[in-house]
Amino acid sequence: MPELPEVETVARGLRDTVLGRTIARVRLKAPPGSTVVSPAFGQKRFERILRGRTILDVRRRGKNILLALSGDATLWVHLKMTGHFYYLRKTEPVDRHDLVVIDFKAALGCDNGKNLRFNDYRRFGRLRLYRDDELWQQRGLGDLGPEPLEMSSREFLSICRRSSRMIKPALLDQTFVAGLGNIYADESLHAARIHPRRATASISSRKLLELHHHIQRLLKSAINKMGTSVDSYAGVNGQPGRFQKYLRVYGREGLPCKFCGRAVVREKVGSRSAHFCPRCQRP
Ligand SMILES: [Zn+2]
Repeated sequence: MPELPEVETVARGLRDTVLGRTIARVRLKAPPGSTVVSPAFGQKRFERILRGRTILDVRRRGKNILLALSGDATLWVHLKMTGHFYYLRKTEPVDRHDLVVIDFKAALGCDNGKNLRFNDYRRFGRLRLYRDDELWQQRGLGDLGPEPLEMSSREFLSICRRSSRMIKPALLDQTFVAGLGNIYADESLHAARIHPRRATASISSRKLLELHHHIQRLLKSAINKMGTSVDSYAGVNGQPGRFQKYLRVYGREGLPCKFCGRAVVREKVGSRSAHFCPRCQRP
């Protein structure tokens, strides 16, 4: 699933291509019963409401993308497992996984031969339209924890002290911090040499400060490398990320730890799998 660096890369890609553009037409290609757009809207209404609106802002919050539209509306996008935005030539045939196709009004200085497609073969991705005054009341948005790149070390210590959970499930909880998933949680815990099952509140302040440092360092580095492509992830221009080359534990089960040489293990921690080094990350 795309995590903070991948979603940030997609948001930047959207800013480079469709920010300031006015929507001319929206075609919903999703099969009947699809929940890619809110079922409450129905396809026709969704298309009608979006037409004529201008994309005024593109923001990321956690793993969510928020497209602020003219007329006090926001399109809230979650890519989930395999959601992608692609900015493609209009002549490029519509793929069967292109669930939403957005055409823009011609504008000076823009590539008017291209349109934007939301492509999702697993079909868990979501495009939700809200009035601005309703947006932050929604679950999954209004209850998000702090942004890890904006969170001070003091703030991180304070939320960890209040936690009654193991550190790995806590890091994955979007209400604890927003934007981490399996990749960057596993990598950060390995870099800080903390076992994923450690009770969060029992970890020393020194270790938590190290963890805070590595979370920010790894996220920044992954953003610079346009994210991690271990599955289908790619940016708006279709380019995969490059951070997968720098992974030390995630997806490396059975391979030697890059610190000590011991084989990396993969075990279930909470409800999700965790990759870690049993020597560097002692319980
Ligand atoms: Zn090791």
